[in-house]
Amino acid sequence: MPPNIVFFFVDDMGWQDTSLPFHTEVTQLNENYYTPNMVQLAEDGVKFTQAYATAVCSPSRISLMTGMNAARHMVTNWTLRKDQSPDPEHSIIQPPEWNMNGLSNQKGDSLTYFATTLPQILQQNGYQTIHVGKAHFGAKDTPGSDPRNLGFDVNIAGHAAGGPGSYLGKYNYSADWRQPGNLIWDVPGLDKYHGTDVFLTEALTIEAKEAVSEAVEDGSPFYLYMSHYAIHAPWEKDERFYTKYEGGGLSQFDAVFAAMIEGMDKSLGDIREHLNNLGVSDNTIIVFMSDNGSPKQATRNLPLRGHKLLPYEGGVRVPMVVYWPGVSQAGTTEDQYVIIEDVFPTFLEMAGVASKQIPETDGISFVPMLKGEEVDEQERPIFWHFPHTYDQFPYSAMRKGKWKLIYRHTERALELYDIENDLGESTNLVESETQKTEELAKILTSYLLETRALMPIDNRTGKAIEMPSEHI
Ligand code: CA
Repeated sequence: MPPNIVFFFVDDMGWQDTSLPFHTEVTQLNENYYTPNMVQLAEDGVKFTQAYATAVCSPSRISLMTGMNAARHMVTNWTLRKDQSPDPEHSIIQPPEWNMNGLSNQKGDSLTYFATTLPQILQQNGYQTIHVGKAHFGAKDTPGSDPRNLGFDVNIAGHAAGGPGSYLGKYNYSADWRQPGNLIWDVPGLDKYHGTDVFLTEALTIEAKEAVSEAVEDGSPFYLYMSHYAIHAPWEKDERFYTKYEGGGLSQFDAVFAAMIEGMDKSLGDIREHLNNLGVSDNTIIVFMSDNGSPKQATRNLPLRGHKLLPYEGGVRVPMVVYWPGVSQAGTTEDQYVIIEDVFPTFLEMAGVASKQIPETDGISFVPMLKGEEVDEQERPIFWHFPHTYDQFPYSAMRKGKWKLIYRHTERALELYDIENDLGESTNLVESETQKTEELAKILTSYLLETRALMPIDNRTGKAIEMPSEHI
């Protein structure tokens, strides 16, 4: 029987928001947080120290579902309301007509990206596909808002919104208590927990376990997309763990954040225990990942620079651990970089899907890394594209080897960093490394042209922002 796959996906969790160190040394954040189940997973599997996502929710999730880079799928910012972009007006820059309605199951829907999804292909190959938690694939009132239209047999609590109204059962997981009439964030389908003291993370875990039990009973392999709303805003006290952190030297925000992280980690432990109890843990792959860096409200992910939405490492580098029983080597570390679109071909290969059934994508399978085969992708270029004014400057960026190039659209300015020797991206080397800057600017330009990436418009000229190679 093909292996079951559990994708344990956390929202807005930074690289260091865990007691499992992803850096070469233990940092303050590793001391602040307590995630014993992540530590255990890393002892059993492979810790990826340079895993990347995009810098914000929906683009990462669409890349995961389609294997495509955000420049190509054009869902480059977070989605929510149909035909509406969250980008505020800007004096110079206007975002392009991006795919603000998200992913769709049919061709030609306005402002959507259409593709065969990862769960669809798994479904066609006999998998039970289970969606639990945050979806955030398509705008409200579009087909993509319902995971069942995108290849999932079961949907628990997923819809258009990228955050819960509340994590608290007593508030029915709604924001209505805070802001009457604000119902767009209401978590659907968890009515039986309404009015209880069950924290959302726990409710999702209980439901996921039940769905897994049913799949095992049916005798089919399953794909569990365990997509926690945690630790995205609104940051609310998980009372099961909060008192432990209160008064322990952390700020009030950090104590709340730490409790939410521990609640998420407990979920990982509970699910693993459940797999053991069902007797399927030896044939179940577990992949842990986050969809972008920690939010700007959280304590900085030192030594990384920046936070969610930014192209710096603090925005895009995320925790990742992979455990493949009988294949991955226990307690090992993988230092080569991977990016979120790589998950798509990887999972299909893990599931034994015939290669002719695996669509051509931007992702590259990291199965060889897990098998301990000789892999050298250090010169592979990877890309980010955010032509938006929402909460940050618009940019395109890339990494190749130890180099990171960032192109700021508004200023038409380039930044070059040596990630290997300057992980904190403190020294811009554009002036001293002119040849490297030129080389990367050309590669980035070619990629943006090849993917037909949408560039923002300069209000003063009405024209699209020029390509980076024009500003070397
Ligand atoms: Ca996110």
